[in-house]
Amino acid sequence: MVRVRFAPSPTGYVHIGSLRTALYNYLFAKKNNGSYVLRIEDTDQKRLVEDSMVNLIECLEKTGLIHDEGPTFDNGKLIQKGEYGPYIQSERLDIYKKYLSDLLEDKHAYHCFCSKERLEEVRENQRRENMTPKYDGHCRNLSKEEVERRVAAGEEYVIRLRMPENSIISFYDEVRGDIKINSDEVDDQVLIKSDGFPTYHFAVVIDDHLMGITHVIRGEEWLPSTPKHVLLYEAFGWEKPTYVHLPNILNADKKKLSKRQGDVAVEDFLAKGYLPAALINYIALLGWSPDVNEEIFSMEELIAHFDVKRVNKSGAVFDVNKLNWMNGEY
Ligand code: GLU
Ligand code: ZN
Repeated sequence: MVRVRFAPSPTGYVHIGSLRTALYNYLFAKKNNGSYVLRIEDTDQKRLVEDSMVNLIECLEKTGLIHDEGPTFDNGKLIQKGEYGPYIQSERLDIYKKYLSDLLEDKHAYHCFCSKERLEEVRENQRRENMTPKYDGHCRNLSKEEVERRVAAGEEYVIRLRMPENSIISFYDEVRGDIKINSDEVDDQVLIKSDGFPTYHFAVVIDDHLMGITHVIRGEEWLPSTPKHVLLYEAFGWEKPTYVHLPNILNADKKKLSKRQGDVAVEDFLAKGYLPAALINYIALLGWSPDVNEEIFSMEELIAHFDVKRVNKSGAVFDVNKLNWMNGEY
């Protein structure tokens, strides 16, 4: 049973690149009679933008990407459909706490009391010696008594994952093939921040596992994070999903598509009168080559033809003229 998710953070408008990620997840699910889950990743409290979750859900639904599970509106009331909820991470804090205590018990995780100043100094020294900046393991071996005493005294701390030394982390990516890296290149990552909220890395692994996600389809900016996730799957003894990292959408100058060069917000395109079907059609072909020589597809036709194996390896250039032409064809 295929289960995929689109997991945006409610930090503003819906970027055209996010719409493509959502669309490929949707097409893959429908093609395989699977489920498409929407999960709201709002654990980075500093980046939240008010009302952006509502806007996000509305924007996705307007383009026809109706999720099978996740938050949605029923007569104006926010509900969460599906059995694996809640689907909003800030409502799942108890779940993360429970899995954290398992990791602490097994010594896969530990408390770190280092101050920002100390961490900055360590990094500065490493940079000076041309080393990749990373945590130096200072708090790795504190005794249980010391940890309890310092926690009770109200000292600030984070929880870190204890990285295995000198081991090879490997995973398979449908676009990039087999990927292997040495664990020495990965930091003792923070799992729980000093505000008590989980980091993206910790929450994403727990949720993908508990929600039964079989394929993680997301932008390639998350590829460097994947070894961290793989290590967490291993620490828990869980089976990891198949990964599909999508190449970036680029501007004509081959740099990552950004707001400076024109519209990138889906809501702006819709407000200007672009038809959702044209937008979807255009975005679908941005980074994926169908097995037929056609350019105009309905959603049903996209589902029928979609194949992750035909996702391009190199970045796709966004061309508003092409979008305009397509919009005229509908
Ligand atoms: N919350 C992440 C984002 O905002 C999701 C990354 C992922 O799909 O794992 O893009
Ligand atoms: Zn420390």
